[in-house]
Amino acid sequence: MVSLWLPHPSTIFALNHYILALLALTSITGDYIVSHTKLHLFQALFDNATHATVGGLSWLYVCVNYKNRSHLQTLLEIAACAGVASLIDVDHFVSARSFRLKDATSLSKRPPLHCSTFPVIFCLGLLLLSYVCQVEVWKKVSLIVLTAFVSHHTRDATRRGFWVYPFGSTPPIPYYGYVGLTCLIPFVVCELYRVVKVEGARFHFVSKGSVI
Ligand SMILES: [Zn+2]
Repeated sequence: MVSLWLPHPSTIFALNHYILALLALTSITGDYIVSHTKLHLFQALFDNATHATVGGLSWLYVCVNYKNRSHLQTLLEIAACAGVASLIDVDHFVSARSFRLKDATSLSKRPPLHCSTFPVIFCLGLLLLSYVCQVEVWKKVSLIVLTAFVSHHTRDATRRGFWVYPFGSTPPIPYYGYVGLTCLIPFVVCELYRVVKVEGARFHFVSKGSVI
């Protein structure tokens, strides 16, 4: 039996704002630490940890706004989103065919998982399959993967823009545009969650102090 978390409406409202503030703070602090760290290895580790934290916080925002999940399920979903957001950078090593950080970070072109066309096609394909095969959980998986990729690509876009194959790359996005977009992503994913009708409805505030 799933133990449901039924928070007070003001709790959800406050949590949403705390998470958005944390997202902005994590992005800015993470970038500050990366740019002020001398050692290449620590730069890479802090950079990756920032990707993971931003991915995890983005999915936490979605979890806070939708019911029908246990605490354990919430933790697993957040860990999955953080894990995917972090693992995307493994393709630097795969493309370099080397375990050396220097090789992985000095590629002449961007590795395939950094192409933004990929998560869009993957998620649309998985969503379509979930309807055809009627596997409800694939809808959620597609949105977790989408959140992880979009948050990662948005952070990378401050340096190299978005790579949208076959159209090429956009110019790098302005720094505070990236922070704003990072805070906007979980909000958009919440709307997608509703549109694709993932199991577990959004909290509805029926009267002062009650939530269904
Ligand atoms: Zn990256």
